[in-house]
Amino acid sequence: MTSRRNELLDAALRMVPSGMPIAGEWRESSSGATSDVEDPATLETLATIPDATVDDGVQALDAAVEAQAAWAATAPRERAELLRKVFDAIMAAQEPLAALMTAEMGKPLEQSMGEVAYAAEFFRWFSEEAARIEGRWSISPAGTHHTIVIPRPVGPSLLITPWNFPLAMGARKIAPALAAGCTVVLKPAPQTPLSSLALGGIIEKVGVPAGVVNIVPTSDAAGVVGRLLEDHRLRKISFTGSTPVGQLLLRGAAQNVLRTSMELGGNAPFIVCEDADLDAAVDGAMLAKMRNMGEACTAANRIYVHDSLADRFTKAFAERMAAQRVGSGFDPATQVGPLIDRAAVEKVDRLREDALARGASLVSEPTAVPEVGHFVAPQVLMDVPLDADMSCEEIFGPVAAVHRFSTDDEAIAAANDTVHGLVGYVYTRDRARGRRYMLELETGMMGLNRGLVSDPAAPFGGIKQSGVGREGSHEGLMEFVELKYVAEA
Ligand code: NAP
Repeated sequence: MTSRRNELLDAALRMVPSGMPIAGEWRESSSGATSDVEDPATLETLATIPDATVDDGVQALDAAVEAQAAWAATAPRERAELLRKVFDAIMAAQEPLAALMTAEMGKPLEQSMGEVAYAAEFFRWFSEEAARIEGRWSISPAGTHHTIVIPRPVGPSLLITPWNFPLAMGARKIAPALAAGCTVVLKPAPQTPLSSLALGGIIEKVGVPAGVVNIVPTSDAAGVVGRLLEDHRLRKISFTGSTPVGQLLLRGAAQNVLRTSMELGGNAPFIVCEDADLDAAVDGAMLAKMRNMGEACTAANRIYVHDSLADRFTKAFAERMAAQRVGSGFDPATQVGPLIDRAAVEKVDRLREDALARGASLVSEPTAVPEVGHFVAPQVLMDVPLDADMSCEEIFGPVAAVHRFSTDDEAIAAANDTVHGLVGYVYTRDRARGRRYMLELETGMMGLNRGLVSDPAAPFGGIKQSGVGREGSHEGLMEFVELKYVAEA
């Protein structure tokens, strides 16, 4: 396994150019500062990269501003073809990119392969959308003039991404921004900058002009981003991350009245109705809970099971959870990799202890975990009280919370009793019941008899404190488009 890891990692690290791309040059930090990137499974240093300063951030915005007019003026077909080339290049490098992601983030290699393909799809989808940005022309209702609506790129955009999907979160923002004719500054998460830098190398190689995509990894997110938000030349911020940071950035974005897209935290209910197909519901719960080791905004955070199925569901689910193999993402037998860092492990431990202290019971058998690395064993807690911390906070780890319910009214009320509203999952064989949940769950997305909703062609996003705006689909493109109206005599 170690030699396989080393072989894959060598090829993977060769994909990461040295430096950070600003104005078409791969630069070191202006202060000379660097940051180390750690493998959460082995705690080894994988690479050392530049640590951008506030000055570097301003230079990246200078470059984006400088490149904006020419990029906006390129033919949509030209932008489309460049994006299509990015798709092809990512897919040609699927394995090394996946290895890079597994090394810096920990997820099993097979899941990383899936994320690389998912990330590439955003470039393919938005290459197809780039040539379909339409305006309209009409005669005003009174017949006094013509109404012309012209789509225009929003302008230089700041993109901020989290560590949990190191390639896909950046792809989901860069591809629509470039398709719409916007230039960007990307600030990746400090734990996982290598996937973004490798993507920057691919984007440059296919011929995207200098300054269109600039990347600033930094340990001073508040300083660099705070300074850019003060600059009136920046026209948009697109953020994926936690709700508290999103709230802070929304306040910062108010000073220059920026267009904002916010993909924030979730607290997804997963509801198993009395008429559900039990095996399908267990499969769905495994996927919705355990994909990405539970470190997903879409993770099933509260599993509500009808009284009549609760014991059978929980037994089957707990057996599947206990059978999960925990280890290095490079081991082909691994299903659950390490969490991102020590703080993540401590948070999951705190939430579990709080639920147990409030009366929940642990119903799964313990699983072996490696001694070195940020590993947590999959666990199932039953009858988690609704006032436990894990009922209102994202668990973000392989610990599942099961609750019972007896009526649909009760399940819907409990599911909606949260400030979040990203996604909900419902398992039922009754079409009318499914429709009721579709309308009454307060979420931006829902999986009906399906434990996975992500799809580049669909509008991904939340309501309430889970966010503003949508990513993917035509709506994701329109997040980077302004509409200009002209009244013509
Ligand atoms: P986070 O702590 O909010 O950080 C996200 C990004 O924001 C990182 O790049 C971070 O850099 C940066 N950041 C933090 N404080 C900042 C500040 N004051 N100014 C500017 N930038 C700042 O979230 P995370 O822990 O990385 O990611 C997990 C969260 O993301 C979860 O809540 C999850 O639900 C959410 N998420 C949502 C979606 C969605 O589509 N809705 C998708 C994936 C993840 P630093 O770490 O250097 O501060």
